[in-house]
Parts: sequence; structure tokens; C-alpha cells
Amino acid sequence: MSEKGDEMKRTVMKRHSSKPSFQRHAEALPDRWELSPLLEHPQDDLERILKSLDGLVSQFEGVRGRLRPDIATHSFLEILRLNEEIAKQSARLSAYAYLWFSENTKDLDARAFKTRVEERLTALQNRMLFFDLWWQGVDDVNAAHLLNGSGDYRYYLESIRRYKPHTLSEAEEKIINLKNTTGRSAVNTLYDILTNGLSFTIRVNGQRKTMTREELSMYVRSPQPGLRQTAYREMYRVFAAHHDVLGEMYTTLVNDWRSDNVELRKFSSPIAARNLGNDVPDEAVDALLNVCARNSGIFQEYFRIKARICGMKSMNRYHIYAPHRAERKRYRYSDAIPMVLNAYRAFAPRLAELAEGVFRERHVHARTVPGKLTGAYCYSVLPGSTPYVLLNYTGEARDVATLAHELGHAVHAMMAAEHSVFTFHSTLPLAETASVFGERLLSEALMADEPSKAVKQGLLLAQLDDIYATVCRQAYFVLFEQHAHTMVASGGTVKDLADSYLDNLRQQFGKSVRVPDEFRWEWLTIPHIFASPFYCYSYSFGNLLVLALYHRYKEQGEAFVPKYLNLLAAGGSQSPDTILANMGVDMRSEAFWQSGFDTIAGMVNELERTA
Ligand SMILES: [Zn+2]
Repeated sequence: MSEKGDEMKRTVMKRHSSKPSFQRHAEALPDRWELSPLLEHPQDDLERILKSLDGLVSQFEGVRGRLRPDIATHSFLEILRLNEEIAKQSARLSAYAYLWFSENTKDLDARAFKTRVEERLTALQNRMLFFDLWWQGVDDVNAAHLLNGSGDYRYYLESIRRYKPHTLSEAEEKIINLKNTTGRSAVNTLYDILTNGLSFTIRVNGQRKTMTREELSMYVRSPQPGLRQTAYREMYRVFAAHHDVLGEMYTTLVNDWRSDNVELRKFSSPIAARNLGNDVPDEAVDALLNVCARNSGIFQEYFRIKARICGMKSMNRYHIYAPHRAERKRYRYSDAIPMVLNAYRAFAPRLAELAEGVFRERHVHARTVPGKLTGAYCYSVLPGSTPYVLLNYTGEARDVATLAHELGHAVHAMMAAEHSVFTFHSTLPLAETASVFGERLLSEALMADEPSKAVKQGLLLAQLDDIYATVCRQAYFVLFEQHAHTMVASGGTVKDLADSYLDNLRQQFGKSVRVPDEFRWEWLTIPHIFASPFYCYSYSFGNLLVLALYHRYKEQGEAFVPKYLNLLAAGGSQSPDTILANMGVDMRSEAFWQSGFDTIAGMVNELERTA
């Protein structure tokens, strides 16, 4: 529906790109998950539930006449409960459709089922839109009265009203919606069509190969330095050839963002519109970005050490994702499960118990099979029901980390079982808390038990590469965007933007990483910069938040655990600011974000000792 809802879903079910590998394993991995708790007889149940939903939505439409700002609290609650019942039944159908589709995306029956569910649910949702519009229009005094009596629905209701100060008249909103389909949405579609249609040609082991961007990107992590360099050069050669068209698209999108959000909706700055969507105060985002910029030296130091470990004289931007040369250790699935559960148990037995439930109820689909969705996700369907986890387990260390990650999402949702279907899902800024925290617990445990110095070094490199890409790199994208939005407003050209981007990179990498000139076009290759301005700081936010919380855990020990469990149990029932304040964290405080970098600096020091 809304752009934000879409992103939220994408993040909650974040998929980890992983190269498909069909390596044979001695052990059988689960390739069946128990979907019957969702639907017993899919086709019959679908018709039955759609019929029931149709009746409930008709009933919901019937309350329209009763909606008045001074409606009695108990009648208001009744309407919300009806709304929730509709959401619950819909969630069951959506989940079944998506999970079945994931098992085999080529299965025509699964695809038809998913399309039917999506179409029917969208039609039903449209019949219910009037409620949100009415609720947004209620005056503040009456709204405060209704909010006070709304119990667990409160934050959900507040979220609908959050945009009220920036909402225009109904007629104006209609025009904007209408013109957006031929305006910014159309430009985004053109960007996708143009960039997805690009092909790239490089020599691999003496042979010319033409490939998609996805395939080309894999060579950025190739063990052969020449291939890494070739892959980058080809990527930017092809994108640069389209710089005028892509640049024009970008300036159009930036101008549209400004006139929509700053001029019409009166946001104080272009980024403020994104911040409101995330329900994060502007000052918190400023603090986060300042601290990231101030700590670029830690990663510069990291890349100096990495160059030494990889036997390079100095680091070049082409090689920052060079893989570690140590032999990679493999992990059997049947060993990975206890490894992850034990790491969780050592932190909090309750979390291990919850995670065990996911396996016990057979909610994991682990094996890679042809046609199956790539990557991994956790799908939390309803409060109080066990989530589903999809993996493509091939036995790499990264797969074990992914298992820890997805189980983190699962236990987060399970801890929040007491909330409504609208408030048990974590809000976007906190959506990756339990998952990334789970990964940290696992890597500490792995490092502690690992006797081989080489394997340890490999683990640290993999983690720091990942932290660089999710924290520092993303923050610098947003720093560039802030500058770019200002430049476009004062007539900056695509060449000016590219110069500014290159400056941004050279500041980020300092003297320790040489940045070749063609990297000036990198921003043209990042879809988020076009489609979702300023979105990328969510990754820095989520990941640095966990590193900072982990720092507290190390400082406070056991005393930290119940506070953290409370954070999980809050789900999405309060604003991120409130949830963090409840555990004594002020997201506006630079000192808090700095402590996340202290964790990173500790890891870099540890790496130094292995080098
Ligand atoms: Zn995730």
C-alpha cells in the first residue's frame, strides 16, 4: 500500500543475498515445513476465509455512519476489534500464499494462489480505507480522549495520525496521488527498466562473458584481484554511458521530493519527511550521521590492516571486499542448530526456549531446492503463533550467522505475543535489533570456541566487512544525498553531483584506501538513492544500535538482560524513542552512538592482534 509499509515488510523479512550453491551434504536438511496451522485445506479454506472476510468487511463498512469524533470509547474499541479480526484472517492467507510461493517460485498453482489472495485482499482493504481517513480528520481533543481508552491499539492509532500536520486537503491529496503514478512512480519504473536491462561483458579466465548486474556483482568478492577490478570498471563504464539520462531522472526525483515534502507539506528539510515515516526525531538522525562521519578513521584503520593480511601493499577501493584466503570452515546443519541455540541460551534461556519452538513445530525450510526463493527470511504471521523461517543452508559460516539472524526475528515476534496484530511487529528502526543482536551472540561464541587463529581472522574480516557495508557505507550514502538535494535545488548538474560523490568517498576512505575516478558514478547504481531518498540510514541505525546495545551488555552483564527482553516484548506497541528510553537509551545522544563504534574499534584491535 504505502511506500513505507512496503519497506517495512521488506526489512522485517530482510533477505540475505547468498550465492546459490548446490554443494552436496551428507545430511538431509528439512525441506518441508508445517503449513497446516495456517491453512488445513488451502483451496477450500481460501474460499471459506474470503467469504468470511467479505462478511466482516461489510460489517465494517456498516460502522461508517457511527463514526463521529465524540463516539463512545467502547463503540470505538468494538470497531477496532473488528478491524483486527479482519487483519488476522488476512494475515493468515497472505502468509500461506507467500510461504507456499517461496518453496517453489515456479509452481503455477502457488503463483495463482498468491495472485488471487493479493487481489482479493487489496480490494477488501480499499473498502476499509475510509476509517483511516476519518481517524486522521478527528480533532485533537476528541482524538486524545479516544487514544486514552484505546489500550494496546494506541500506537497503531497514533501512527495513522502522525502525518496529520503534513496532510493536505482530500482534493489535493487525490491530485498528488493521481499525478504520482505518471510522475515519480513513472520515473522510478523507467530507472528500473533501464538499469535492469543493462548487460555487462568481462573476461573470466580468458573467456568473454556477458552477464547481468547480479552476476557481475559476485566478481567484486572474487579471490582474483584482477577480476574484482574488472568487475567494478565494467559496472561503472556501463552506468557512466547512461549518466545523462540517469542524472536527469535523479534531479527530477529530487525536485519532486522537495516540492512535495518541503514546499507543499511543510517539512523542515527533505530528510525530515523520511524521519517522520520512521518515527525517529531529526536530532537522532543528525547524531547518528555525525558520529558515523567522525568515526570513518576506524574503518580506514581496518582497511589498512586488511590490506596487510591480504598481502597487498596498500588498499584500493576495488579490493575492500577481497575474501580471506584461509580455508573456509564448513558447518553441518545439525551442528549449527545447537551452536545458535547455545549462544542464545548463554545470554537468556528464555530466548533459546522460544527459538527451539521454531524447530520443534517444524517451521523451518532449510534446504536449497531448485526454484526456491533465494536468501533467507523470517515471517511472523500472528501474535502468539510461531513464526516461519526460510533458509538456503549450504554450510558456510555465513549460513550459521543467517540462522542466528532469522531466529532473532522469530524470538522478537514471539516475545511480543501479548500485543495486537497491529502492534506486535517491531517498528522499522528497531526491526533488525534482535536479529543482529543474535548474530553478535553467535559470533562471540564462535570466536571464543575457535582454536584456529586463521579461522578466527577470517571470521573477524567477514564481520567487519559486513559492519562496514551496513553502517559506514550507508551513512555516507545519506550524507551524499543531503548534499545532493541541496545542490539540485540550486541548479547542480549531474557532473557536479558526481564530483561531490567522489569527494564524499575520498573523505570516507581518507589516505588508507585509494579511490579510482570511476567510482564517481557509484551513486547511479544504488536503487534506494533513487526510489527511497534517505532510506539507507535505517541500515546504519539498526546495526549501530545493536553494536551500542552490545557494548552496554558487556558493561552491565546480567543486569542488561531483563531490559533487553523488555525491549523485545514491547514489539511495535510504542515509538522507537519510547522503547529505547525505557531501557535508558537516548537516541539523540552522540555518546550512545559512539559506544557502537567502541565495539567496532575493539574488533579492529582484535584483528590487529591476529595479523
Ligand atoms: Zn533481518
